[in-house]
Amino acid sequence: KSKGKKLAKSAITDITQTAVLGAGIMGGGIAYQSAVKGTPVIMKDIAQPALDLGLAEAAKILSKGMARGKVDAKKMAATLNNITPTLDYSAIKNVDLVIEAVVENPKVKAMVLAETEQHVADETVICSNTSTISINQLAKSVTKPERFCGMHFFNPVHRMPLVEIIRGEHTSDSTIAAVVAATLKMGKTPIVVNDCPGFLVNRILFPYFAGFSKLLIDGADFVAVDKVMEKIFGWPMGPAFLLDVVGMDTAEHASNVMAAGIPERLQKIENDPVTVLYQAERLGQKNAKGFYDHS
Ligand code: NAD
Repeated sequence: KSKGKKLAKSAITDITQTAVLGAGIMGGGIAYQSAVKGTPVIMKDIAQPALDLGLAEAAKILSKGMARGKVDAKKMAATLNNITPTLDYSAIKNVDLVIEAVVENPKVKAMVLAETEQHVADETVICSNTSTISINQLAKSVTKPERFCGMHFFNPVHRMPLVEIIRGEHTSDSTIAAVVAATLKMGKTPIVVNDCPGFLVNRILFPYFAGFSKLLIDGADFVAVDKVMEKIFGWPMGPAFLLDVVGMDTAEHASNVMAAGIPERLQKIENDPVTVLYQAERLGQKNAKGFYDHS
């Protein structure tokens, strides 16, 4: 479906300067990952406290690495030096790749993507880190959709190896090639997937969560289920703990998007414990109470 089978001559194959828009959980993590692998990164937000937090998070990861003897003072300084925080779009004008990681709101993302295009060169590749919004829908906010695709990192970015690269219907092969190269340079493993609700990982993860919810409705105990999946089956954590990590708000939102997009496969469950916890504002680790108490 993609336009053009050959790589365009102007294709960017080596990303030497990146920009991340949004310095939150994901933007901060992506900026750190680019910086630690040696690619300078502009980290742009609309709020100075967010930039301060993004930098502090990078420093925290590096300090932990130092405590374990994996990072020395030189590496720490070089990595932090590679991150340039800014509130100003003019700082992104020379970057090869922009990764949008602002709040999961289609209107805000559409505005940010349109603004981005006005501040970068024609060849600059633009990606969105959205978890749930259709890439084809977001592509409508840019005038050159061939240089746009999804680049979906997982939380926490510095520990999760996978990056889903989502091809929109107009994304060019050269754009995909540049983003695959950038992902590898960041030390991550890319997979290229088509645009659909949940992309690949969440289409597997959410039916698993739905199965877990149905078990609880049938009377299972979440601690017992976690114990089976973690201690006996051998996964790093069980579904209740994983939902606490993901966040009940994020899980609720993503399951709504998937139920709307592929109702024949994923339907909303009546009295879903995830919805019940979400409505009770038990969001998980982010507010210290979800299935478990994290205080
Ligand atoms: P967050 O709320 O932690 O951070 C969002 C940041 O965007 C904030 O710092 C905010 O100030 C900034 N922002 C808002 N408007 C902006 C603008 N116009 N320009 C620049 N910055 C702006 O959110 P997050 O959890 O980091 O999520 C960001 C994106 O990553 C979302 O699309 C989300 O779906 C996706 N994502 C999140 C996770 C996760 O587990 N948190 C995982 C994968 C993908």
